[in-house]
Amino acid sequence: MTQPASIRVVAQGDGFIEVCFDRCQSAVNTLDAHTIEELRALTASLRDDTALRGVLVTSAKDSFIVGADIFEFTALFDQTCDEIAAFNAGQSAVFSAFGDLPVPIVVAINGLALGGGFEIALAADYRVAADDARVGLPEVSLGIIPGFGGTVRLPRLIGAAPALSWIASGKPQTAAAALEAGAVDAVVPLVQLRAAALATLRVAADGDDWLRRRSRRQGAIGDFDHDAFAALKAQAQKVAGHYPAALTAAEAIEAGAVVARDAALVLESLAFGRIARTPTAAALVQLFINEQLLKKKGRGYAEIARPIRRGAVLGAGIMGGGIAYASAARGVPVLMKDITQPALDLGRNEARKLGSRQVAAGRMQQAQANAIAEAIVPTLDYQNFDTVDVVVEAVVENLTVKKAVLADVEARVRPDVVLASNTSSLSIAELGTALQRPGNFVGMHFFNPVPVMPLVEVIRGPQTSDAAAATVAGYAARMGKTPVLVRDCAGFLVNRILTAYFVGFLRLIHDGGDFEMVDRAMEAFGWPMGPATLQDVIGMDTSDHVVRFIAAAYPQRMRMDFTHAIAQMAAAGRYGQKSGRGFYRYASDDKGRPVKRSDVEAGALLATVQAPPRPFADAEIVDRLMLPMIVEASTCLEEGIADTPAEIDMSLILGIGFPRHYGGALKYADLLGLAAVVERCDALAALGGGYRPTAQMRRMAEAGTRFHG
Ligand code: NAD
Repeated sequence: MTQPASIRVVAQGDGFIEVCFDRCQSAVNTLDAHTIEELRALTASLRDDTALRGVLVTSAKDSFIVGADIFEFTALFDQTCDEIAAFNAGQSAVFSAFGDLPVPIVVAINGLALGGGFEIALAADYRVAADDARVGLPEVSLGIIPGFGGTVRLPRLIGAAPALSWIASGKPQTAAAALEAGAVDAVVPLVQLRAAALATLRVAADGDDWLRRRSRRQGAIGDFDHDAFAALKAQAQKVAGHYPAALTAAEAIEAGAVVARDAALVLESLAFGRIARTPTAAALVQLFINEQLLKKKGRGYAEIARPIRRGAVLGAGIMGGGIAYASAARGVPVLMKDITQPALDLGRNEARKLGSRQVAAGRMQQAQANAIAEAIVPTLDYQNFDTVDVVVEAVVENLTVKKAVLADVEARVRPDVVLASNTSSLSIAELGTALQRPGNFVGMHFFNPVPVMPLVEVIRGPQTSDAAAATVAGYAARMGKTPVLVRDCAGFLVNRILTAYFVGFLRLIHDGGDFEMVDRAMEAFGWPMGPATLQDVIGMDTSDHVVRFIAAAYPQRMRMDFTHAIAQMAAAGRYGQKSGRGFYRYASDDKGRPVKRSDVEAGALLATVQAPPRPFADAEIVDRLMLPMIVEASTCLEEGIADTPAEIDMSLILGIGFPRHYGGALKYADLLGLAAVVERCDALAALGGGYRPTAQMRRMAEAGTRFHG
């Protein structure tokens, strides 16, 4: 028989007990199936305890309970809606049965009480919170709704509209906000929490207020602010196409408001079963799991990484300035070297501007911004380079220049120093040939703008040592970025997969597609901007160069035997936003931001390289652009460019804003089903190799397997 592993019961004398959540061998309390089973058994044993006068609920961890065990969702959500609803109802009933024990129950909330952790507190009669506690129902961020009574108990406690606002935002609330809303009854300093909660319990046991609270909780919701609720529901409706959970929560609250608690809980479970089966829930749960995997890998890198106390950046341009700022802002001072004083001044000003923006936005004090600026030491020579632990090279994208610069700096630093190149396209293997110690050399591909973009590709060349890769990954993490380790190849991981998408776009335009229509279809799909607008943002000259270079490296899938729209635009000097015209025409608004307008001249220019215009259905547009992305992502996985589907999908989400509700190219393929992906590819086979599924994809389609296990 397994021993209880999550809940301890400690007698407090006079018929009072403490139920303490203390999950064995874990830093946090989660409500996994085992813990809920323990709670069920405990409740059954307490129900007939005639000596019992009251229950105090506590946690022995730093946080009360952080929520359900999300790793259990994957298998659960594979079942049918009805099965999920039935399972959920069974678990939710445990919370009700516990809360209905015939004695008062007081919960002491320390740290976080989130999701199921908050719902168990909501099932009790009183809640006392530590002043630094935070409570909330973040389920919507996983694409689902609270399933253990959150849509039922919270509105009965704080009102339907405030409850919907909390649930739809998913944000944890401070103890003070919870007190003000009426979600907790008292807030005390952490050191007094247990004693205060126990005192509340003893007082409650001598009165009958708890019984009145309980009957309110068990009935229907009385009147509520219908206008405020309707306004919140309308907001939820707006995003419901891709993110339906907030709307589903609103509907569950509304339907449950007019019936008693237990009937409302049935409605909640049914809604939970439905929402758990949506692709969005599958994608967002997968993203959570992917993030955990990346964090775990990060801890692994930390074990072999060399310590970094000081860094150096070569090149004070857009990227160098951003990298220096990101490093200094996270406590790693940097030397920033360039070849001319004006260039150096530009980089310093760029870093100062980044700090000023933080101050203006109220996210940073001026003193802190000054300290960051001072931690970036500009230099025109290699003075003090013997003190640095890592060097990030961000000079112009030119193989000869980069090789010379890397060889030069290698001679000025300690032999254990890791050299990283922020090249966007050059081969790490080739750059490494310039070095005496290629084992210490690695690619470190930041995205622009550096302070905003969360991804860093860490590219291993053929000779890169584990320690060098881990050190740079650790440095990226220190800057607050998510590092993903990838193998050296043209375009690395993200730009290679993105180029497959661009080639799909260019072929569609060549075949007579309307780029504005394509933009609209891809934005409706969920991309932050359509591919034509994206070209305008990147800059046509840059994009032409990148697409040309990457497409040439993968001719079997990316060959374009036609003059394509980007090349045509670039040749005509339509560089996009930076020149005021590209696919669209740009004017500035009163804040200097570019405003996009249609431009007949762009259409006329493209007509010279296009087949006669013809309409494409949105579904075909999506397939023509997304299928090559899936094929390229699968190819990268098969070639070992990244280790796991999780890393590929996270790179696309963090690097290029892949729509989160599809979870990345490989999760999107899983959601469609590999058989459907292969079938759709085959239907477009005449368009070229980009639409040819890999042998592995065909095997997966036949076997009915998925990328994400
Ligand atoms: P940039 O032209 O803004 O800056 C390059 C800087 O390097 C200039 O200040 C130049 O004076 C300096 N420089 C040239 N030779 C040098 C040397 N020998 N020693 C020190 N400094 C030297 O370029 P950028 O956009 O910042 O790009 C830098 C690198 O980052 C390139 O390899 C580029 O491909 C890569 N990158 C750029 C982006 C982007 O969006 N801009 C994104 C990812 C990677």
